[in-house]
Parts: sequence; structure tokens; C-alpha cells
Amino acid sequence: MTVVDPLTSEPKNIGKILCIGRNYARHAAEMHDSVPKRPVIFLKPTTSLIRSGGSIVLPPISSDVHHEVELVVMIGRTGRSIPEDNSLTYVAGYALGLDMTARDLQSEAKARGNPWSVAKGFDTFAPLGDFVPANEIADPQDIKLSLQVNGEIRQDGHTRDMIFTVSYLIAYCSRIFTLERGDLLYTGTPAGVGPVFQGDRLEAMSHQLPTLEVTVR
Ligand code: MG
Repeated sequence: MTVVDPLTSEPKNIGKILCIGRNYARHAAEMHDSVPKRPVIFLKPTTSLIRSGGSIVLPPISSDVHHEVELVVMIGRTGRSIPEDNSLTYVAGYALGLDMTARDLQSEAKARGNPWSVAKGFDTFAPLGDFVPANEIADPQDIKLSLQVNGEIRQDGHTRDMIFTVSYLIAYCSRIFTLERGDLLYTGTPAGVGPVFQGDRLEAMSHQLPTLEVTVR
């Protein structure tokens, strides 16, 4: 899938999609989980992406699909072992995203010690909003993000509450994966996650970022 590149305004193919789990203490608590000492990383396939205006398709093998509103970072240039104090210069732009999660399948995977790829990787499970160029965001740790379902606020968070900051996450991830232009980083969700149902209308909002609106079918 292509998006508008925040650096060039040209269409840009999305590369790999890195995601961070449990990056807000209150979300870890609501999942009855501990606060991680190191970032919890998983990946989604690019086939899980949909744009604003699209529809999330509920998979028949799950009966408990949850919304997770997140700040999404697009990487702007290739880097490996990026120093943390310089890592924000590798960001092309920021957007809102949803890390849709089949919670029942994830709980089963956690209990068995299995990967989360199925619970997180279904088609349509990575809605993605439009990007704002990085130079228009003074501080990625000063962004409010919220999620409404059918007009009712469910998640209301602030990126200052991240356990691992964006600059730390880019540096950390780049020691494992070479980061490339067009890669995405979903940075974890604040508290308030919950189920979505057929016909729901989801709106992810922030003062600084374009609204992401999707429906569930
Ligand atoms: Mg998440």
C-alpha cells in the first residue's frame, strides 16, 4: 500500500511495520500485565494496512477484537544502530494509527507462549491516518491522542506517558532491524482498550494529527 510521503508529498510504499506492546503503564495494568523492562516488539504484515475511510473486517475466528489507538512514526532514511540523541532526525512524519487486536487469540497465544502474529496481523488490522511532516511536530512526547467509538470517548491518552520514548524506541529497534525509509513504528496504546462490533464507527483524534476514521464490518 502507498501513502503520501510526508517529506516529498509523493506516493510512498510502506515497508515493514514494527509495533510496540505495553508501552503505557496504565494499559499494562488494565491487561493485568507487568511494565516491561525492555520494549516488547512485534510486527504486522503490510496487508493489514487500511487508510482512513476504510473498513475493519472482523475475522470469523475471533469474537473479541479490540481497538488500540497509537502514535505512528514513519522512518525517513536508512539507519542501523542509530544513537538515541540523534534518532528523531530519522523520522519522516507522524500519524494516528489503530493496532487492532484479536484479544481472545492474543490471550491464548500469551498463555501458550506463542507469537502474536495471528492476533495482530489480520487484513485490515492496521488502520493508518495521514502523516504530518516531522518538522511540524515539536515534541513527539507532547501529543494527545484519543479514540471515539460511535461518538463516545473510549481512549484519552498523552504520549508523555509512554514508558519508552519515540527517540529511545527508534534507537532500540535500529539495533535489531535496519530501519528504512517508509518503515512504520506503532508506538503502543494508552489505557481504555475495548471491543468493537459490526457497524461501529471509530475516530482516532489528536490536536496535532489528521483524524483517522474507519468503520467495522
Ligand atoms: Mg498496540
